[in-house]
Amino acid sequence: MRHEYLERTQWRSLDELVAIQTGALRRLVRHAYAHVPFYRQRFRQADITEADIKSPEDLRKLPVLTREDARERASDRESVAYPFPTVRKNTGGTTGQPLLFGYDNDSEYWRQAIKLRGYGWAGYHPGDRALYFWGSPTPPGFDFSKARAKVLLDRFMRRETYVPCTVMTEADLRHVVRLLKRNTPKVVVCYTQAAAELARFINRNQLRGWGTIPVLCGAERLFPADRAELERAFGPAVFETYGCREVMLIASECEAHEGLHVSMENILVEIVVTDPDGRERPAREGETGEVVITDLHNLGMPFIRYKNGDLAVAGPADRCPCGRHLSRIAKVEGRAADLLKGADGSFVSGVAFHVLFTGLANAARQFQVVQHRDRSVTLRIVPGDGLDDTSLESIRRGCSQLLKELPVRIETTPEIPLTKEGKRRTVIVEA
Ligand SMILES: [Zn+2]
Repeated sequence: MRHEYLERTQWRSLDELVAIQTGALRRLVRHAYAHVPFYRQRFRQADITEADIKSPEDLRKLPVLTREDARERASDRESVAYPFPTVRKNTGGTTGQPLLFGYDNDSEYWRQAIKLRGYGWAGYHPGDRALYFWGSPTPPGFDFSKARAKVLLDRFMRRETYVPCTVMTEADLRHVVRLLKRNTPKVVVCYTQAAAELARFINRNQLRGWGTIPVLCGAERLFPADRAELERAFGPAVFETYGCREVMLIASECEAHEGLHVSMENILVEIVVTDPDGRERPAREGETGEVVITDLHNLGMPFIRYKNGDLAVAGPADRCPCGRHLSRIAKVEGRAADLLKGADGSFVSGVAFHVLFTGLANAARQFQVVQHRDRSVTLRIVPGDGLDDTSLESIRRGCSQLLKELPVRIETTPEIPLTKEGKRRTVIVEA
């Protein structure tokens, strides 16, 4: 079983883990070169063959696969020999056009096993009583082994509670608190922003009536202020996970809470910085770069050096205090698309607003920054108890520091709705 294998490999030395990655990478590259028209062409254009990729470093000889390439050349990226893509999906349409992609059965088993291990670090085990506070009404499926599927499924259905977090009125939030008190789940699995909202509601109304419940956050970035709210509402066991629909779980936080461990046995992650001369290089520790992923076990429709549009901070190279050598991402910064353009053409990361509002949590419970096509900015805030002329002035001053001379309009609003997928977008750049 892959899960048992992963339970063992997580304790291997870095050299052994890199050897495992290298083996899987060479197999993937051999297959892609021989049987995937898009990659055969790519190799030829780069004037290399499969034999030139012997190690993860050698991958840099290939250009990155952009989202646009992946979308436009979808049929060429399918394998023409076994294994074929058997699972087909597309990315959600919150930004831009959806991307169609596929993967084979073996890749699906790896994805499930990686998820089980990552969730296990937060103390979640299949069969545990879990509350899913999730964006879609369909459960984020675990793979049930075929023979015992029915039995397991029944047990799961009794033990797992799903609450869609897409619509959240005060009555809905109270309902979730009642469920938490009645069922006391062993773990809460949630969309980050929706759970942070729930935590703020619990803290504001002093509704916490339970000990520590581990919280597994996914689908969105976890900001320090939100983590603090979650820790107040559920205890210190808050775990961030990072993934994307195309490859599922990429990295997850361990019990040491010092960054996110990359699922090295299934995914090869590069964090890439482009220097002013246009040359690419790996990010140094603590440096922000673009996330580039290679999905090691998807031969059916390979993703090799795929730039998924996220930014992340490279983690420390040394061993984590938990004892694992699996490499680490220090922080996930979110989508590269969430960059505002300043008046002088410079870019302002949406993350800067989170830093600004962390210090003003009393004044603004939530915020959303919208940059319009003429580059002017509307800042929406949900006022908190502490919103007064002084704090409003601080917000105004902070914004003008970030955005230089761009015109900013501040609006207050009773709530900022989530997207239909249940996500909160704090930065919207209108195209
Ligand atoms: Zn660790």
